[in-house]
Amino acid sequence: MAKTYCFGLLAAAMMSSCLPKTEAHNAQQEAVQHDTEDTADYMYSMLENLCNAEDNVARGNLVIKELEAMGLEYSLQPFEREGSNYRNIIAKIDVENESHNLAFTAHYDRVDVGCGVVDNGSGVAVLLGMIKDVKESPNDNDLTFIFFDAEEKGLLGSKYYVANTDERFDAVFNIDMAAYGDTLMISTGAHNRRGEFVPTTESLNELIIELCEENSIPYFWTEDKWTDNVSFNEAGLAAASVVRVDSSFPNPYPIHNEGDNMSNTDINVLSQTEEFMLMILDRY
Ligand SMILES: [Zn+2]
Repeated sequence: MAKTYCFGLLAAAMMSSCLPKTEAHNAQQEAVQHDTEDTADYMYSMLENLCNAEDNVARGNLVIKELEAMGLEYSLQPFEREGSNYRNIIAKIDVENESHNLAFTAHYDRVDVGCGVVDNGSGVAVLLGMIKDVKESPNDNDLTFIFFDAEEKGLLGSKYYVANTDERFDAVFNIDMAAYGDTLMISTGAHNRRGEFVPTTESLNELIIELCEENSIPYFWTEDKWTDNVSFNEAGLAAASVVRVDSSFPNPYPIHNEGDNMSNTDINVLSQTEEFMLMILDRY
């Protein structure tokens, strides 16, 4: 019951925030509801494909195939660590006269147990769903979507990216676990590696908290160093992670074990998370 109610609120909020202002109200509602279902189905089928992919290389190839199918400009950022090869996948949607330069990120690699759909095929599916929706109704921000490799090896992909880019994003929003759990954990480091406060990150927390409260989504905030936002935060850059959890987090939780499979994913939670990310984009 609670989940269904929450979903209704999110859908209503999306309708009022993302629509072209010139069309008739009824037509707008139908269009967005149709899109929402379409995107949810698309994301869920991506989850299944990621679950079935043989290894992290195959998972990366799936992402590339989708970006190509959607006609997106992308680049690969290969790197090597301790004899193993990895690659980040970076896609862009640029506009003229942008208001902000934003990045949305998720790691696509998985650990060796389970099939890596809770952690973090779901975040990958949300990024792809966002790309699909943003392409259908353009916004006024320059957007970069980064699919990180080797998060599970110690945030290697995001660390490599931060150390080797001259991009200066106004904000980075990372998604790690998007298809399970009724609560939203906001994971940010408000302090850089010298222990200094990073006020830009604090403002991202406030934005996410505001949206949680408006949409009656339970949330909590942590500075624990769980995921890829940390690589940005430690360099003094504004980044926050959106993570779906429930009261059992962090233990027992269907990640890094056999429980990380399709039976612990929920298409409605996946869809809610994608809508929430679009609200962040709309509100920023
Ligand atoms: Zn993860």
